Amino acid sequence: MVHTKVAAQPCDASGVSGSVFEGFPARETSLGTLKILRALPIRQKRLVGPWCFLDRFGPLSFSDAKPMDVAPHPHIGLQTVSWLLQGEIVHNDSLGNEALLRPGGVNVMTSGGGIAHAEETPRKNSGLLNGVQLWIALPDADRNGQASFQHIDEVPIIEQAGSMVSVFAGSLPGRSSPAKHFSPILGADIALRATASMELPLDPSFEHAALLVTGDAEIDGQSIDSMNLYYLGTNRSSVEFKSRDGCRVLLLGGPPFPEKILMWWNFVARTPEEIAQARSDWQSHQRFGEVRYRGPRMDAPPLKRFAPPNPVS
Ligand code: MN
Repeated sequence: MVHTKVAAQPCDASGVSGSVFEGFPARETSLGTLKILRALPIRQKRLVGPWCFLDRFGPLSFSDAKPMDVAPHPHIGLQTVSWLLQGEIVHNDSLGNEALLRPGGVNVMTSGGGIAHAEETPRKNSGLLNGVQLWIALPDADRNGQASFQHIDEVPIIEQAGSMVSVFAGSLPGRSSPAKHFSPILGADIALRATASMELPLDPSFEHAALLVTGDAEIDGQSIDSMNLYYLGTNRSSVEFKSRDGCRVLLLGGPPFPEKILMWWNFVARTPEEIAQARSDWQSHQRFGEVRYRGPRMDAPPLKRFAPPNPVS
């Protein structure tokens, strides 16, 4: 067998069993002119459940330029999840879907064996941008299935005194996101008012991680900051969030992913050969289809370049 050289990054479940509390620094990078804080994959190349990628952008305000302008690019082996705290993003994909995302809604795109999309700040906008984009690794059994796209205008919300939890992926007791996923999963945005606290029930078979996106927060009495992803391990039946001045915290979870994945550019795969094939199909305008966009699409980076993978979102 010919070994294809690809500077892909292998990612794996952490293998941690039990409850832990450990901060992993996010790293700063950019997406065109947009500054990004990349919280996943973390330094130790781990997944959190099936979550394999987390980019944090904003908060920022703008007047003229479009801060988000990601030209058409392909994906394999994953779902993308876009979630906003402020502002707007318009999505166009090779299935012909166009969707305007606003805070409170979620866009979930399933690549299956191949899809392409573009994401931009729409012309009519609020002048604000603040949100995240996440990727979910698809299990081997589902990763070559049909491509699809779901836009949900309002995700389910759990409200209690002083707190509001938006379930943008998976389930919490009493509320489930209508988005289709292929592994058990949790993606929640926890908003607390000043001096509020809340106890959230968790599935002990899941591992979890948290990212502070606004304000100040404590998790089980330990303060967290916005420059680290906090890994919480497994075997927790609940977690307590608390804030002095108010906060938003993202909580991600799922059972430790049972497969090792390879990440290269915008591809999640299992072998270097699949990555090479997907790259070649994109470059030769096969398999992924075309996306409505006013400019040129994105070129794949050279396959053999020895460089860290640099997903574009
Ligand atoms: Mn993308």
